[in-house]
Amino acid sequence: MRKNIVAGNWKMNNDLPQSETLIADLKKQKQISKAKVMVAPTFTNLWHAFEALRQFDIEVIAQNMHFAENGAYTGEISASMLKSVGVNTVILGHSERREYFNESDELLAKKVDSALANDMSVIFCFGEELADRKSGNQESIVESQIKNALFHLDALAFNNIVMAYEPVWAIGTGETASPEQAQDMHAFIRKTLANKYGSDVADSVSILYGGSVKPNNAQEIFSKPDVDGGLIGGASLKAEDFFAIVNAF
Ligand code: PGA
Repeated sequence: MRKNIVAGNWKMNNDLPQSETLIADLKKQKQISKAKVMVAPTFTNLWHAFEALRQFDIEVIAQNMHFAENGAYTGEISASMLKSVGVNTVILGHSERREYFNESDELLAKKVDSALANDMSVIFCFGEELADRKSGNQESIVESQIKNALFHLDALAFNNIVMAYEPVWAIGTGETASPEQAQDMHAFIRKTLANKYGSDVADSVSILYGGSVKPNNAQEIFSKPDVDGGLIGGASLKAEDFFAIVNAF
């Protein structure tokens, strides 16, 4: 049940020609590992990416969505719109959404509900800031993020949820959590899930690590027992680097 997943989050990078080039490069890579591979282009490139990767084992996913079905929400994109262009998985709660767009746990709970109601899967991101880590509060922060956004769900919902632990201080900074720090937190996340939903659920949920994962550190991080994969930012923008990470399992 628990899958190994490597997902590339392109963030606000790549216009259409650049996206086409990167996808062409991705198609040339050889996958040796059995990890499930996903890429998250910007909204404007989703349809093209879906069409281009249709025959490949690379799932095209979205970086965000709105919780409403449709209506007067200028500039927003709904779950059903994503589904209509072939997208069945969405990243929610990325720290950049939380920080720059004020996304709260409460808002994220609504987005999660909307995605699940539309039969989509969710990669749910969370993680502590540097100050939390320095003061030793990382576990209580992570626990509250998970509880506030997900614990209204029933156990079955977790069939469609992937957790992504991304310590904010490690995102785009070149500073990675050590493999031990990642493992400790992932074990804590699994324990938190087990306390609420039981160990069957906790053991079946994939928990990804994100934050400066690169070809040279992926293998050590992925070797930890509670790390089921990675959410990759910067290193997903080069096909060779991304597949070096995919093949690190
Ligand atoms: P990074 O980003 O790999 O560039 O640190 C990870 C993420 O934000 O998902």
